[in-house]
Amino acid sequence: MSPNPLDIQSLVSDLRSTLTSTVLTPDSPGYTERIVRWSKTIPNNADIAATVVGCRKYGVPFAVASGRHTTSDASSCEDGLIIDLHLLNIVSVDPDARTITAAGGCIWRDVDEAAAQHGLATVGGTVNDRRRHGLIIDNLLSVKMVLADGSLVTASKQSLPDLFWAVRGAGQAFGVAVEFTFRAHEQRNPVWAGKLLFPLDKVELVFKFANDLMGTSDGDSAVMINISTSPRANGELAIAVAVFHNGSSESAQSIFQPLLDANPLVREVAERPYSQLNGMMNPTFRDRKRSVDKGAAYTIPLRPEFVRDVLAPEIRRLHSQIPASEETMILLEFYPTNKWSEIPVEATAHGHRGNFQNIMIAPRWKYAEHDAIAKQWALNVAGLVVKEREEYGPPIEEPITEYGNYDHLSARPRGVYGMNLERLVEVKKVYDPDNVFNKWYPLLKE
Ligand SMILES: Cc1cc2nc3c(=O)[nH]c(=O)nc-3n(C[C@H](O)[C@H](O)[C@H](O)COP(=O)(O)OP(=O)(O)OC[C@H]3O[C@@H](n4cnc5c(N)ncnc54)[C@H](O)[C@@H]3O)c2cc1C
Repeated sequence: MSPNPLDIQSLVSDLRSTLTSTVLTPDSPGYTERIVRWSKTIPNNADIAATVVGCRKYGVPFAVASGRHTTSDASSCEDGLIIDLHLLNIVSVDPDARTITAAGGCIWRDVDEAAAQHGLATVGGTVNDRRRHGLIIDNLLSVKMVLADGSLVTASKQSLPDLFWAVRGAGQAFGVAVEFTFRAHEQRNPVWAGKLLFPLDKVELVFKFANDLMGTSDGDSAVMINISTSPRANGELAIAVAVFHNGSSESAQSIFQPLLDANPLVREVAERPYSQLNGMMNPTFRDRKRSVDKGAAYTIPLRPEFVRDVLAPEIRRLHSQIPASEETMILLEFYPTNKWSEIPVEATAHGHRGNFQNIMIAPRWKYAEHDAIAKQWALNVAGLVVKEREEYGPPIEEPITEYGNYDHLSARPRGVYGMNLERLVEVKKVYDPDNVFNKWYPLLKE
């Protein structure tokens, strides 16, 4: 139900009289650029708390937004207010303690660049990050949050451990994270990384290499494979391999020789600072079309026949059904799993740890009239990945969950949090019993 317009007016007037941040409404200059969100003045914790409390008082829905990268609607709000943290992007590094403290609106570029100035790095998203050090949440030491009642708390293993357990996997459901402190790792050497492009007929060679790499990599080498059309392959479907090695060109070449010798159509690999790594794929994602991401988990070895005979024809089928969908991608991670699998699934709320990999099914298209077809296509392809895993993958006893960050088509919470769901619901009842933070995976019934 939409909130009463008079309540919205009262809320805006309350906020304007109390906050140091600027509140934009449809009649404000600059509104259309950023919709209703903070502007010019950096939001502070007191402003954020006052906004959460004000929204509750007047029954106005709100969403929290940082990078606004999700293709779900979890950081948007049509009839209410957006707490936009993008100006909250200060990073400080303590080189002696080896910690990085990042404000809640930072993007990984802010963090990577600040850490690199001290020869440090932490684990971040995108491309082939540091599987040697586990998941991002395994490197989180503490987080400061504004909770549903407006209080500001710090959660860590020592302080509010139940909240700290919950936010490592379901942070968006518990409050506004205003500051993260991460463990940092020494990263003085450059890394070897880049892109190799192959025609689709090299599918056996490429996937044999990637499968084998998962058996031999010690955590310093990984690939991400993108099946998509490429102008460098005359607009045909091709295999783009993002390669990563935490070491020199020489050591990388001995590992990646089978790919380097396979006559790639494009060979753009080089040593570069680690801090440039997460930006390497930015050009691929720059042209923002209509898009939605859907994840699924697969097991190693992945049969090349599945890619050639199922995934590639599925992409072609979408091209024939929807105009302007040539930039559709299917991304397959080949990341060593041993480090994150050392930690028991129940140690954090994140339910997706184990010896399996993620695929991201990412239709890209142009016209709203094709939204439903594209979404259904993504769901169907995810179903085919699961079928392949069940028919050809090694037997795995535990139920395999989905990676919540890749699921923007509303998987059920059980499918994301698995065996952790019951405990997560109990912690939610303690910290947000009225379900104020209700975006993304629903933990409490409305
Ligand atoms: C091109 C592309 C590449 C991607 N690559 C990766 C990858 O390599 N690894 C990976 O894990 N994921 C990846 N993702 C998925 C991405 O991590 C998720 O979409 C993630 O939610 C984006 O974070 P954001 O800050 O941009 O979120 P937003 O879109 O701003 O928000 C997403 C959700 O988080 C909540 N939220 C955001 N900030 C806060 C905060 N400070 N406090 C509380 N809640 C908050 C929002 O309310 C919302 O519910 C990728 C997505 C895309 C589109």
